[in-house]
Amino acid sequence: MHSFHYNNGSLHCEGVDLQELAKQHGTPLYVYSQATIVDHFTRLDSALSEVDHLVCYATKANSNLAVLNLLAKRGAGFDIVSGGELFRIIQAGGDPSKCTFAGVGKARAEIQYALEQGIGCFNAESEAEVQRLNDIAGEMGKKAPVALRVNPNVDAKTHKYISTGKSDNKFGINFENIPDAYARAAELPNITLRGVQMHIGSQLTSVDPFVEAVKKVTPLVEDLKNNYGIEFFSIGGGIGIVYEDSLASNEPSWWSPDSASDEQATPITIEAYAEALVPLLKPLGLTIFLEPGRLIAGNAGVLLTEVLYEKKGSSKTFEIIDAGMNDLIRPALYQGHHDIVPVKEPTSAETTPVDIVGPVCESGDFFAQDRELPKLSEGDVIAVLSAGAYGFVMASNYNSRPFPAEILVDGTESHVIRKRQTYDDLIAGELIPGS
Ligand SMILES: *Cc1c(COP(=O)(O)O)cnc(C)c1O
Repeated sequence: MHSFHYNNGSLHCEGVDLQELAKQHGTPLYVYSQATIVDHFTRLDSALSEVDHLVCYATKANSNLAVLNLLAKRGAGFDIVSGGELFRIIQAGGDPSKCTFAGVGKARAEIQYALEQGIGCFNAESEAEVQRLNDIAGEMGKKAPVALRVNPNVDAKTHKYISTGKSDNKFGINFENIPDAYARAAELPNITLRGVQMHIGSQLTSVDPFVEAVKKVTPLVEDLKNNYGIEFFSIGGGIGIVYEDSLASNEPSWWSPDSASDEQATPITIEAYAEALVPLLKPLGLTIFLEPGRLIAGNAGVLLTEVLYEKKGSSKTFEIIDAGMNDLIRPALYQGHHDIVPVKEPTSAETTPVDIVGPVCESGDFFAQDRELPKLSEGDVIAVLSAGAYGFVMASNYNSRPFPAEILVDGTESHVIRKRQTYDDLIAGELIPGS
């Protein structure tokens, strides 16, 4: 479900007119739907009701305090990848004991901080890390709760930058080495073995790789349960979302997704995911952790941006907008597709091919190429859809462009959940020697 639709000729998020929001707060502007975020979380949570489970939202997908708070209030756990994310969870009212700490490169200070705060579990990605966890916990007179991340060597069939479950990725410990790694970890005095974890990649558009991975590691998980009394099995995140045709439930007349170019993704529904996996997971008798990020936040957000100029090249028409790759890097980084729609509903079905490009001094700074869109004019506000995950969190100040503001919509109300950066914010913390 998501909550973006045309109403009275203008794109709305829930009950709020996006044209009005853009006027009030300026552009570029991130806008999130509270109802969508909550719906995705609660639907996944209830689809798994047949097994003991905890949904640990992958904080990195969208780590605004207001978003984290929404999920914390509804009982979510959190998957974190840094000390900074743990700090955010605590500030947002989340419970550190319901947090799992992932990542191949946990620094000493981060490990100490997580132990002080009573982290639920470290998902360790190498034996060297397990040793480090043991040493630091020992120095602090504590025991470190640990799960090892198994790399099951399955092909997630997703973009190579977001595939993580093949043996040539940097993630996890090779499947074959896991029994020995657990045996050695069990010898360490300051380690408590709590679970086992995997995460095979992101934006998966079929349940098959999940099923293959779960089937492959099930015998291993059973052995670990018998030998070490582990309590949980985390099956990671990675459920893909629809990036194309995502307004389909409310199709405007000019809308023709077939004309949209590349990979037409077949999304995994929450229901199909649960239906395929619950029967495999239930017999294990363990608590199942899930780590969805994109699924929760992706289609809950849009990036509003204004057309600054139209420029006719010899063979192309460029629509130059006021958002750049520094605001949303997915197209440049992963060739990520985002549907783009005018906020003012087009009155004609006519379209022309345009390139939507940003102001940043890089040729990679584009949002769409040769995209069939309704006629745009200077001053039009357009919405880049499905920008709620891996959007703002990957923003940078490149070209000294201030971060956009973020808005959370709840019904007919909207709340600023992050102020737009000012020029003063841009240079805060910088010093000129001698002055
Ligand atoms: C990024 C990540 C996730 C979330 O991935 P999504 O595709 O956003 O669901 C979950 N677990 C780990 C370990 C990750 O690195």
